[in-house]
Amino acid sequence: MERTAEIYCDGCGGKPSVWAWIRAELTSEGYSNWRHPAIAFQAAGCPMTYNTRGLCERLFERLFNRLLPEEPSYLCPRCQDRVAAELPDLMAQDHGPRQRDVPRHY
Ligand SMILES: [Zn+2]
Repeated sequence: MERTAEIYCDGCGGKPSVWAWIRAELTSEGYSNWRHPAIAFQAAGCPMTYNTRGLCERLFERLFNRLLPEEPSYLCPRCQDRVAAELPDLMAQDHGPRQRDVPRHY
């Protein structure tokens, strides 16, 4: 069993509490409250697809002030709540291209 593994939140960088970790690793529940960012985005009306990648990256950056990872992994429950609460407004304000057509600015 890997130590606290690679689990951390793409939004806030937080890790599961030790209790969440114990429950996830020692039971079959897994990280039931931690979900892939695409799930939260989809629930908020912004499915992450190839065609919306540019939009999703901008929204993610605006929400969390960090880049959407190339391979997103998890959002903690708090960050999922933020997506649900704030994403619709951010989407309404966004008028940029949906597709990612410019190289990312690293
Ligand atoms: Zn988080």
